[in-house]
Amino acid sequence: MIIGILKEIKTAENRVGMTPAGVETMTRHRHQVLVEQGAGAGSGFTDDEYRQAGATLLATAAEIYAGADMVMHVKEPQPCEYPLIRRDQIIFTYLHLAAEEELTRALMTAGSVNIAYETIQKNDRSLPLLTPMSEVAGRMAAQEGANYLQMSNGGRGILLGGVPGVEPGNVVVIGCGVVGLNAARIASGLGARVYMLDIDLDRLRYLSEIMPGNCYAVMSSRPKLRQLLREADLVVGAVLIPGAKAPKVVSREMLQEMKPGSVVVDVAIDQGGCFETSRPTTHTQPTYIVDGIIHYCVANMPGAVPLTSTLALTNATLPYALQIADKGWKQACRDNEEIRPGVNVVGGRITFKGVAEAFNMEH
Ligand code: NAD
Repeated sequence: MIIGILKEIKTAENRVGMTPAGVETMTRHRHQVLVEQGAGAGSGFTDDEYRQAGATLLATAAEIYAGADMVMHVKEPQPCEYPLIRRDQIIFTYLHLAAEEELTRALMTAGSVNIAYETIQKNDRSLPLLTPMSEVAGRMAAQEGANYLQMSNGGRGILLGGVPGVEPGNVVVIGCGVVGLNAARIASGLGARVYMLDIDLDRLRYLSEIMPGNCYAVMSSRPKLRQLLREADLVVGAVLIPGAKAPKVVSREMLQEMKPGSVVVDVAIDQGGCFETSRPTTHTQPTYIVDGIIHYCVANMPGAVPLTSTLALTNATLPYALQIADKGWKQACRDNEEIRPGVNVVGGRITFKGVAEAFNMEH
């Protein structure tokens, strides 16, 4: 198969759909890889590295679309790319179609085979191509929180780990799935006292077994949360109810009881946020203050660390891309039921229930 790797053109997106190591794996499987010039620059990969890995470098996205059987991106195709997509061409990338009617219609018109990273699903219902980005965002949440707690950055001037003779800071993580666990891991590694709140008792049992002694797995309830927020220096919001908007677990009234100069990092902001006072921010202006509390609500946190994020993403996507390339998408779907729910739109028809329902269309 001929695989095309495009340069990302969405604002502030520096990741790339395949690393040179991925290209080498593909070429060893006798596939041909076309890479758009400069595609890896934002992630620290040069055109020469891609060439050495066996890729053919092409100057424009138009040439990649014209030559490739399967096109890989990170973000969804942008409007200027719609006319370039060919009938039966495989588009393998993050699509998030349920929130993008114009894109969905464009892909239906193109007649391409559109496989979304975010709906590939394992038997245990986990989403293996979303997990790496949650891992990155969770770890960043603790790091950003520690940074904004410094007085020079507007915070109360607390060192999360404390020092001998001085108590550490208190971190409250609300929602301890992938993001929450990773945030707790880094915060506890820094030496903070970490309260991990969730409403899933089995999850709390698991966390209390695997996490270090400075982490406390606690059943979340409004009174408990209110009590912990009063003592918190950093609060990480990481709740998720799949397919729904995030519940507002921290009201403005609860926020007003927190210590001035504390920091909240609302990772769940991409689902609407779990603090009443949250609104989306960007990496150029990541924070704002409400009632003396610093809010960090960046919706695409992994975008700040593209070198790590690209490697984490392609570690997860490459095995699936390889199966699709080796077998063709139909056989890959027959052989691997994890790939099947990834197929969202084929030959002008929506094949994923959630997308069809979002636009009242048939599937
Ligand atoms: P996950 O499903 O692994 O974990 C969510 C956890 O929240 C679960 O353990 C669940 O039991 C818990 N939960 C649900 N309702 C709760 C409540 N009311 N109180 C306490 N806990 C509750 O999800 P995840 O992968 O960790 O993702 C969390 C959020 O982070 C999602 O909204 C995801 O989209 C978002 N995210 C954001 C970024 C970013 O850049 N901002 C990056 C990655 C993920």
